[in-house]
Amino acid sequence: MLSRDAPSAPADGAPSRAGPVSRMGTAVRHDGAVPLDPAPRTTPTAPAGPPRALITVSGADRPGVTARLFSALAAPTAAHPPVEVVDVEQVVVHGQLVLGVVVGALPAEGPVTDEEQFLAALGRLAADVAAATGMRVEVESAADAGLDAAPEGRPHHVILLGRPVPPDAVAGAASAVAGLGGNIEAIRRLSDYPVTSFELTVSGAEATELRTALASVASRTGADIAVEQVGLARRSKRLIVLDVDSTLVRGEVIDELAARAGRAAEVARITAAAMNGELDFAQSLRARVAALEGLPVEVLDEVREALVLTPGARTLIRTLKRLGFRCGIVSGGFTQITDPLAEQLGLDFAAANTLEVADGRLTGGLVGEIVDRPGKARALARFADEYGIPLDQTVAVGDGANDLDMLGVAGLGIAFNAKPYVREQAHTALNQPYLDAVLQVLGFTRDEVLDAV
Ligand SMILES: [Mg+2]
Repeated sequence: MLSRDAPSAPADGAPSRAGPVSRMGTAVRHDGAVPLDPAPRTTPTAPAGPPRALITVSGADRPGVTARLFSALAAPTAAHPPVEVVDVEQVVVHGQLVLGVVVGALPAEGPVTDEEQFLAALGRLAADVAAATGMRVEVESAADAGLDAAPEGRPHHVILLGRPVPPDAVAGAASAVAGLGGNIEAIRRLSDYPVTSFELTVSGAEATELRTALASVASRTGADIAVEQVGLARRSKRLIVLDVDSTLVRGEVIDELAARAGRAAEVARITAAAMNGELDFAQSLRARVAALEGLPVEVLDEVREALVLTPGARTLIRTLKRLGFRCGIVSGGFTQITDPLAEQLGLDFAAANTLEVADGRLTGGLVGEIVDRPGKARALARFADEYGIPLDQTVAVGDGANDLDMLGVAGLGIAFNAKPYVREQAHTALNQPYLDAVLQVLGFTRDEVLDAV
């Protein structure tokens, strides 16, 4: 099931040279007919041996174009020599086809080995195909396309998300990649709803530099930009942990409880002290829970019933469950709220703190081990271990400072509408208000999400 993720990346993490056609049909090859990226390839080579040519077919898509071109290539005549197919990429963007084919001469089987003759012969073939299909067909030398050159470093996926994605975010990302000596191998659209997102496959740029450069593009343009290494680690994620307050649900449960206890201002002061580093999370949690002393337990039900899920929360969970993910929540909040929520959403696991209750009222104390910042990371590790899933195959999503350990321990930590200092420390950040945008960070397309529902 997971093999549907990132269809353009082969399992060994090598760059896709002849990637399959994206179902969304929006992959655009950059050394082909659509030169969006001005950067030269990092390792240009001029392979010795038989000449190679790039044939580019473009125009309004219609049935049979690809078949017509390959039939012509497959039927050598005196006019055009036998060839081997070295590389193929085809995309359709809003009904416009771009098909790029690199072919090499087979000198042992034909008379033509001279590049000029080879290109001229293919030029005649191109004219025939153009006349038969009404498409534009161009032929150029592919001698310096660097097809055999190994890319420097491992390729990365760069994911741009926004609503909308401003053109300057794409321009900024492309310039940043070029400035680092990298190359954009492909671009495909992942989704048009609820956010627009594009996945760029980038080679030849170093990860840390790429992240730093793209982070500044993101903050300048308001788009979200995530960077992930291409390969198995990205495609094998199997478990996700969500923070609850201000991540899975809107707002903070403790603030709601404090308001009902008439202690909202006091609790807000303690929260602020914790934010300023005057109290650690465990101290501030105990102080805030103490302010709830005497609150009738029925208030917990009221607050739970009034919870509002973050938009996209159900889509995210339903999709990931269909894709075989283990899904759960780890919260610094309270089991009296989170356990029923987990059951309602069909989650696999949940961890939180338990409010102590006596005679139908909160005592102001907690029962058992506190789930604080390190406790959240421990809970993630425990659940991953229970399901036999290595930590590098886990995803964590959270918004607060007490999520930082959990975000760091996970294979992919996503800061969700978080404060800047949380955003800066997480692997990646999402600032769209839709939780299902996490699916695009994981590389799933909108079509795949719809298929999974
Ligand atoms: Mg939170």
